[in-house]
Amino acid sequence: MPKAVVKFGGSSLKCKEDIGRIIQIIKNYRQPVVIVVSAFYGVTNYLVEVLDKARQDEHIAKKTTAYLLNLKRETLALHIENSEGVDSILAEITVLLDELERYLHGIALTGDASPALEDHVLAYGERISAVFLAGILNNAGIETKVALPESIGLVTDGEYGAASVDFVKSTTKVREALSGDMTYVVPGFYGLSTDGKTTLFGRGGSDYSAAAIARCIGAPSLDIWKDVNGFLSADPKTVDNPVQIERLTYNEAAELAYFGAKILHPRTVEPLSAPHIPIRIFNIYGDSDVNKPRSVVSAEKIISPGIVKSVTFSDDFGILKLKGSGVGAKPGILAKVTTALHLAGINISSVLTSQISINILIAKKDLSTAYALVSAIELSVVGKVQIIEDIAVVAAVGNGIAENYGVAARIFTALAKNGINVLMSCSGASPIVSYFLVSVDERIPAVRAIHREFFETI
Ligand code: ASP
Ligand code: MG
Repeated sequence: MPKAVVKFGGSSLKCKEDIGRIIQIIKNYRQPVVIVVSAFYGVTNYLVEVLDKARQDEHIAKKTTAYLLNLKRETLALHIENSEGVDSILAEITVLLDELERYLHGIALTGDASPALEDHVLAYGERISAVFLAGILNNAGIETKVALPESIGLVTDGEYGAASVDFVKSTTKVREALSGDMTYVVPGFYGLSTDGKTTLFGRGGSDYSAAAIARCIGAPSLDIWKDVNGFLSADPKTVDNPVQIERLTYNEAAELAYFGAKILHPRTVEPLSAPHIPIRIFNIYGDSDVNKPRSVVSAEKIISPGIVKSVTFSDDFGILKLKGSGVGAKPGILAKVTTALHLAGINISSVLTSQISINILIAKKDLSTAYALVSAIELSVVGKVQIIEDIAVVAAVGNGIAENYGVAARIFTALAKNGINVLMSCSGASPIVSYFLVSVDERIPAVRAIHREFFETI
């Protein structure tokens, strides 16, 4: 029987007590598993800042490694009684930190870092937490080995900062490498290009790592341990009584992640949907039974009585707007604009057009680059290019949205009753999503209005 893949993210590696919970959870599996870990909470953000400063500051290398070495010393001492045990884990971490220090020195000396070097440096957060966790588990009597992506053959397409796993090249090697009769800890967030370079899967990408490994080994499930109660009908910070969603399809989970739900990385379902490996979500605070997940994401399609399963929002999108009396009728405008954006590596999330305007939804961080690029293109019918930043996307997700009448009517009536103005909307692009744009100050009232309509009215 292949092992389950168990993922712990940075928010499950926050405080000293978390480690005790993780030890207990792994014991509760009663058989070896493959663990995928993120960096400790906040460490990747810290390394991003370090990378930036390292270009000008030659002292940052030493400061960084001293900080990282001490970061979890207390936690180690709390969980490992004999000081030799602590020292031997710190010695292993020191080997990694010495490497990191050399890279940071190199960046300070040259004042520069290539994308390959940036990816390599940012992955140290995960490498360190893998060594740390494996050491702690061994001390707790669970036979555990660190399995680095480079040693197990997790091969990617080589795209820095946004890589994908090459399953043709990875599957057999990864499966064999993780087949021993022991628990393995794999650092998440990266794989190796065919020429041996660290390539990251993007921020938050260790969910994707875990999913990729689950696929390679044919795991019975991918178990993700979070610090929240699984998928909910809305973010508990936004609404008072969110309802837990026990069953979701891969598509529902992917759309919710795409439109802002923070619980899973949007790409997590990609490797798992074809082989039908379920994702089970647990809460590290409170759950200990490894057979009782809060939410299960699988191929099984369950339509909830109210159709909508969850409502979410994202502040990460903005609009690039091209105005002109004939933009909707003239062929070729979108082709030129989207080619320019594509060549600049800018992803387009949605396009809504009419006769007099073309609206392109892209990440807020890309808006000014996109504006500059598109303004520079010769487009005869475009009178004005504009960017709109003060908007948010709100999305209602659920199987059956496209096949059932009345869902959009309920959404828009609820918004209208609450005086919320919809700036743009789209239903049908995905059969399970209805999404719309509102002014950024109205996104929370919008989520609450929809939540009340679908979940709080009897
Ligand atoms: N540590 C990485 C990040 O913060 C990857 C992850 O946490 O999934 O983006
Ligand atoms: Mg994370």
